[in-house]
Amino acid sequence: MQGVSIVRNSNTVKSYQPGDTVQIAGAGPSGLAAAITFAHAGVPVVVHEAQNEVGHRFGADLQGLENWSTEQDVLDDMRDLGFSTDFAVQPSLQGTAYDAWDNAYPINCQEPLFYMVERGPGPESFDTALLNQALSLGVDVKFNSRLRSLDGPGILATGPQAADAIAVGFHFETDKENGFWVICDDNLAPKGYAYLLIMNGKGTIKSCMFSRFKHKQRYIERTVEAFERLLGLKMHNPRPHGGVGNFHVPLNAIHGGHPIVGEQAGFQDTLWGFGMRHAMTSGTLAAQSIIDGDDYNTRWQQALVRQLQTSVVNRLLYSKMRNRGYRFFLRLTTRQADIRGFLRSFYRMSMMKRILLPWSQRHYVSQMKMPVCGNDNCSSVRCRCGTTT
Ligand SMILES: Cc1cc2nc3c(=O)[nH]c(=O)nc-3n(C[C@H](O)[C@H](O)[C@H](O)COP(=O)(O)OP(=O)(O)OC[C@H]3O[C@@H](n4cnc5c(N)ncnc54)[C@H](O)[C@@H]3O)c2cc1C
Repeated sequence: MQGVSIVRNSNTVKSYQPGDTVQIAGAGPSGLAAAITFAHAGVPVVVHEAQNEVGHRFGADLQGLENWSTEQDVLDDMRDLGFSTDFAVQPSLQGTAYDAWDNAYPINCQEPLFYMVERGPGPESFDTALLNQALSLGVDVKFNSRLRSLDGPGILATGPQAADAIAVGFHFETDKENGFWVICDDNLAPKGYAYLLIMNGKGTIKSCMFSRFKHKQRYIERTVEAFERLLGLKMHNPRPHGGVGNFHVPLNAIHGGHPIVGEQAGFQDTLWGFGMRHAMTSGTLAAQSIIDGDDYNTRWQQALVRQLQTSVVNRLLYSKMRNRGYRFFLRLTTRQADIRGFLRSFYRMSMMKRILLPWSQRHYVSQMKMPVCGNDNCSSVRCRCGTTT
């Protein structure tokens, strides 16, 4: 029988007691990061994954592991936290951004702005590396296992619950050289950006939009046309792909005594939709708080809340800019000697952003509702029973 500690109130996590097996719902980066942290500490853990493979919703998507939010390189950061970096990466130092008038802004960095990685179940993907590490540490990963309720100590890591933004386009093969290209133009990606990523003959083209989802087909067509015109892009074997993301800064990320991590909690950069690092960080912190029996809310708030709040202010500022504003932003950013450092300061809670925060919080409304019913004994993985925050 699992020894479950008594939960005093909805902010208290069910802590690990010797003899327990911890359950995790979801084998995304947040769930696997938590599982690896438990395994390093010698805690028995089972990960339930609803699909038959890791990263199912991403196919062979290319994504960026952002490398500007910390001074330390993200791969060193991962190694320090005890995570494998045994996946294919393309350090992205040079790229090109375009404004709505086809003006090009070269991006040149001394150190990678991000590392391009493959998501999904492929042999060299980011997800597979985390999965293999978890398995090698003795984690029990159960595929085709959709968890609906959770009683003992455990973690909720089931990914997004709503669409605050969507990224839609194609995966394809190409002869084009490796690289990344971005276009900031509301006619291609309303309040977002269109992007093209290429790594070793594989490509991803997307319109990442924050409004007007109903017209997504029109924006995809315009995005493809723009990259064909600007770069002479030729896609071989294009396959449609898309996904949703939600962004939320919760008041409380504990439900029924279980920490909520990654995108299920809404932890993602609200400006541009980078979520992998927040997923791993929150997964790690949740596991540590279950092991140590302390307050997960305090942990994630100390580590993430400033950056998340700043990203909400940044999103509001960006969404008000429109095409002329994006052009100004691109000029300003690409003129910097240290673009990585500039972006890091852009995500810092300056005095001006502190003043703008209440206004931003009033105007930015996530579609997501946190499943926090206040019932310490609620065991639903995705609660539908009560009030939300
Ligand atoms: C198109 C697209 C492009 C993106 N590009 C980037 C990028 O370039 N950089 C970046 O940092 N981020 C990017 N993101 C965001 C990033 O992918 C996510 O933030 C990150 O994967 C979140 O990790 P997670 O573990 O919280 O959730 P997920 O990766 O969604 O994993 C959740 C897992 O839980 C499983 N699951 C769901 N319900 C249950 C259940 N009841 N029981 C068991 N298992 C369950 C799901 O099948 C899934 O495997 C992108 C997202 C999209 C859609």
